[in-house]
Amino acid sequence: MRGTALRIGLTGGIGSGKSTVARTLVACGAALVDADAISRAVTAAGGAAIPEIAAQFGSHLVAADGAMDRERMRQLAFDDPGARRRLESIVHPLVGLETLRQYEQAAGAGKRCVVFDIPLLVESGRWRQQLDQVLVVDCSEATQIDRVMARNGWPRDVVEKILAGQASRSQRVAAADICLYNDGVSLDALDAEVRRLAGRFGL
Ligand code: ADP
Repeated sequence: MRGTALRIGLTGGIGSGKSTVARTLVACGAALVDADAISRAVTAAGGAAIPEIAAQFGSHLVAADGAMDRERMRQLAFDDPGARRRLESIVHPLVGLETLRQYEQAAGAGKRCVVFDIPLLVESGRWRQQLDQVLVVDCSEATQIDRVMARNGWPRDVVEKILAGQASRSQRVAAADICLYNDGVSLDALDAEVRRLAGRFGL
């Protein structure tokens, strides 16, 4: 018999602490479905999206190793919104199928809670219907910038540009069922807060 598990969508802006929260939830027994990793996998060599990408865009969009040529596709999608939509119409359904498969596998294996790590949950708007609750990790933009500069060694203007391309803090908080405020709290305090939350998720 197919099991059911609570479906938690986890999101937050870059540097909010989303990955840190995901790790604690996994340590508490949640299964993790990583939407970004799945999206990369379907466009990697041998990925399910590759034949259709070659058919619709031409084989020059597929690199010698068989993966989507990310740099060329980024340029094309940047210059041509129609191309970006066509790419999304290939990739999104495949990502949807694979996330569902991973969810069913985890639920079937008896996991009580599945965390869907979805960086662009608020931006893409297509995830909400397949989730029970949305958990947003929130902090100030200044803190996001400091953390990403420290973690990635990127200059401030690069981090600011990424932030400008993401949903705003208020848009994200508005989409939340649960909001975890991760600013001015220690990693230990965050961990304790997430462990309390895990109890509410049946973990
Ligand atoms: P995201 O996945 O949202 O980009 P991460 O979870 O990778 O963010 O966190 C970004 C960086 O900030 C990491 O180096 C992490 O260890 C650090 N960090 C996150 N939350 C805190 C906190 N409350 N106190 C100190 N450092 C933190």
